[in-house]
Amino acid sequence: MTAAERGRVYLVGAGPGDPELLTLKAVRLLATADVVLHDDLVPAAVLAHAERALAINVGKRCGRKNISQEQLNAMMVEYARRRMTVVRLKSGDPLVFGRAGEEMDALRSAGVPFEVVPGITAAFAAAAALRRPLTDRRNASGISFSSGHHAPGSTLEPASLAGATRAIYMPGRDLHAVAAQLRSEGLPAELPCVIVSRAAQPDQQTVSTTLARLDQAIPGPAPSILLVGEALREAQTAALDTAANYVSGKAADQPRLAEAG
Ligand code: SAH
Repeated sequence: MTAAERGRVYLVGAGPGDPELLTLKAVRLLATADVVLHDDLVPAAVLAHAERALAINVGKRCGRKNISQEQLNAMMVEYARRRMTVVRLKSGDPLVFGRAGEEMDALRSAGVPFEVVPGITAAFAAAAALRRPLTDRRNASGISFSSGHHAPGSTLEPASLAGATRAIYMPGRDLHAVAAQLRSEGLPAELPCVIVSRAAQPDQQTVSTTLARLDQAIPGPAPSILLVGEALREAQTAALDTAANYVSGKAADQPRLAEAG
């Protein structure tokens, strides 16, 4: 079978949840897709753009995958071989965490053509919610994206970037280990930490604290991202007067700001 006879897979970023934060390209592909394989974090309002597609949830439920990574890879290959247009829809940006590397390896080895459509990653939605630049020449020289979770057996060292704002994905509800790790890197006790939950969604919530009190913070409903750094120092006041960044939401849907610890 030649490439022209096969279908194609698009790894598409769904953004953080607000359907108005989808790219035009994502909307077009969703509207024309035959099959949409989506994560749990993708809300119904985004899936509504996939009017004619068979939509299959391939995400985790209660932390447990209902479909294994191997099964998902096989599904993408199989649908593409049936000459279907497949959208693999991932929350945020498709290449930021979330196993896109493994999925693209499977597509490459099966000879299935694919493309990647970027999306707005959670860190940027959280920064917008707080109205804080993650880089500001007065207090932050860069951004690091890291994960509170690693693959089993991984020996990855934590990113250590002096002066960078850290965006920590999947921090977990128990922030003890994350706080201990940051302290062991020598970060100061008074460094601002902000947890943004469900950024760019109607029930977005923010908890502001410091590194010293991070392990006592109670994050809002999942998913949450943790932002750490001097760049967040004024985030607490910034979030207080901001209207919901969920631009498609109703006026009543405002973010709630809580002070932890
Ligand atoms: N590809 C995604 C990240 C997938 S990992 C992206 O680029 O955003 C899943 C993690 O992303 C969650 O555990 C959480 O830490 C973060 N996340 C995703 N959507 C979020 C949202 N709306 N608000 C806060 N954090 C979010």
